Formats: sequence, structure tokens, C-alpha cells
Amino acid sequence: MSRLLVIVPREGAELLRSAGSHGSATFKVSGPQNAGFLCAISVKEGSISPVRMTPPTHFLNFGDARPVGYWYRVATDLHVAWEYARCRNGALPVSAFAELVPSGFKHPGGGGYIALTYAPDAETGHPGVGIAEFAAWQVTAGGVNPLDVACEPQVVGNVQLAPHWPVEALAAATVTVVGAGSIGGATVHALADYGVGRLLLVDPDRLLWHNLVRHVSGPAQVGKMKAFALRDDLEQLRPGTSIEPYALDVIRDADKVRPLLARSDLVVCTADGVAPRRVISHLARRAGLDAVLACVLEDGGIGEILRLRPWPDRGCLVCQRQALTDAGAIDPEPALDAGYGNGTRHRPMTAVGSDLHLVGQLAAKAAVATLLERAGHPDQRLPGDHGLLALRPQLGWPPPFDLTRVGELRWLDARPPVPGCPTCEEP
Ligand SMILES: [Zn+2]
Repeated sequence: MSRLLVIVPREGAELLRSAGSHGSATFKVSGPQNAGFLCAISVKEGSISPVRMTPPTHFLNFGDARPVGYWYRVATDLHVAWEYARCRNGALPVSAFAELVPSGFKHPGGGGYIALTYAPDAETGHPGVGIAEFAAWQVTAGGVNPLDVACEPQVVGNVQLAPHWPVEALAAATVTVVGAGSIGGATVHALADYGVGRLLLVDPDRLLWHNLVRHVSGPAQVGKMKAFALRDDLEQLRPGTSIEPYALDVIRDADKVRPLLARSDLVVCTADGVAPRRVISHLARRAGLDAVLACVLEDGGIGEILRLRPWPDRGCLVCQRQALTDAGAIDPEPALDAGYGNGTRHRPMTAVGSDLHLVGQLAAKAAVATLLERAGHPDQRLPGDHGLLALRPQLGWPPPFDLTRVGELRWLDARPPVPGCPTCEEP
């Protein structure tokens, strides 16, 4: 079994840095994980300050409180001894430990306790050596054994990626995702992972058991509206992302979707159906908004990303499909209404969850690349506006769908508007 890990939450570290020389400390410990955290300290006689572990659902908040332990402010020498004792799996004699604790040392008597020590001069006394500011110990009459320590850092999450990733530009962005299903769920997770600050999720459906085979949400969310299930999942995973769920149907509730698009920088549509895709293509064009449409074609054999730009030389979804038909290719759009099937009947071959997630993540990549290129990052330029990803290619598909190897990714240019298109031509 590994050593007991003692976690010092940020709040506890701050209290200790400004406290006096010693005091009592309480730890909550999870036996199965052999981990605990500092849950209360006394900073002066009789005054106990509780320390919270975030998030509130953290498993250690449900751990068992150990008998009271102690904390001591110490010289850096004790933390050098801690590092050394950990390396050789050794212990310090109680007398040696007590000598390095300037004040308040409590003898363990016949039992034992957890001690947390704080060495304020660890960094200044030994710059660059990496001597820890906090150390933890199991103090018994037979010896003082080093424990493992993890101190919660000041900064966690995407902010850690700055300045090597454009954290600020993405944190300021708002993206609407229409469709919170199997593709959309993966898109939403990926957008949050990239650091998009605000996500508006639109989906009129509930998560039910038959969705679980492909959806990123799990059984605990069955019965919730899909957009709310994703919001609740991501609150745990990516607390820095602001998520607004809307149980809206883009066709029936177009008037309520328009204001969402008006405050978005981009819209991703992962809804599987001809009508919602056309509505988003139209609404995005009218709103002057870049749109990324993602779906799978040919029973899940090909993933497709279609970026629609509201530019005079680029056509809407209907115009893109018309251009395909005119070029002698099939129009894959009508098959989208058939759904993915249930894998046993309705359609013999059907899309697999992870294939859909790949497409959803590629849509998120295309969306983020579009936002970043616009924000002045030329290295984020896509090779084209129409991406085709081979998931289960079959011989005989007409161009441009004639991909032959799994994983092949083909990018094509967007086509211009068809004359007379009611979406592309100014009203
Ligand atoms: Zn058009």
C-alpha cells in the first residue's frame, strides 16, 4: 500500500501561511484510497477554522475524521529530512523530529497523530531545489514517518496553458451548440476542453436508456433533458466553463433560438435531421454567423464536417448540396432523417459511439480553428470548408465520398451560392 496522501486545500494553505507557530489540525481520511485532507485548523488558542475541499462532491468530504492532529511552523531543515526519509523509506526518531519543531511539539504518547509542517523559507532558503513548503508525518512513539503531501495549486484548468494556448481569446468566446446527442455531447466536451468560455446548448430531447450506447452522459442522467445532463456533467469536469442549457426545438422555437445566435460567435449544429440543419444554415446566414455542421453519412460510414461562412462567395447548406448533385454525386442529406438505428434492427449497420465522438471532436476543432483564425491566429487555418472522415469506408461510393481507408480525412472547398437561393441572396 502506498503512503497516506495528505491533501492541503488552497484555503488551508493560505490559513497556515498567515497563522502563528503551531496549533491543532483535523484530517478527514478515506480508508480505501488511503488519502485524506486538512479539514480544520486552529490558528490561535480555541479558534478552529474549517477548511473545505472543493468541489463539495469531492469524495474526501465524505471521509472519516481522524483524532485531532497538529501543525507546526518549522525550519526548512525538517523538510530536507522529510525528502530524505521518503527516498529511503525511513523514519525520524521522535527526539530528532521534536528538535526541529521550534515550539508547541506534542508528544504522541501511546497513540499517534498526523502532523502537517509548514516551512515558510523552503523556497527562499533553497532556491530552485524544490524543497516542499508543506510536509506531513505520522508521529508515533516508535518514530516519525513521512507521509505524501499534495498542496492545491493557485491555478488549475485551462489558464495553466497560457501563454502557449490562446486562453483569453477562447475564454471570451460564446458558441451555441444545436444538438446535444451523441455527436453534440462530444462536441460540447471538446469545446469546453479547448477553453471556450460560454456554451449555449440547444436540444429538445431527453436522455433515455437507448441513448446510453452512444452518448457521453451516463445512466445517472437518464430522464434529464440532454442539454441539462451535459451541463451537469461539465460542471464537475470543467467548472471554468459557463454552460446554458435550453430545451428548445430549432424549428418550433426558432424565435427563441435567434437571440441565442445573436450573442454567439459561432454555431455548431450536430442535430441529425434535414430540417434542423437547414434551419440553422438559414438562421446563421441571416445572423452573419459562421456555422459548423457535423453529421455522419452512409449509416455511420463517413463523418462529415461542413463549415458554412456567411460570405458572398460561399453557399448555404442547400447550395452546397445542390453543387454536389450537379457534379453527379449523391445528395446524402435525406438519409439523415433515418437516425442511427438501434444496431439490431431498422438498419443493419449503425454508427458506433466513439466514431460519433470523433466526428463531434473534429467539429469542435473546426469551430475553435475558425474562432482563432478570426482572432488573428493564421496557424489555425483549415484546409477547406468541407471535411470528410472515413469511419467505415466501402467501395463504390461516388466522389467526393470515395474514401478508401479508415481514418482518411479529405478537405474540400466550399461552393458558391446557387443563383436565386432564398437563404444566400439578401432578403
Ligand atoms: Zn444558399
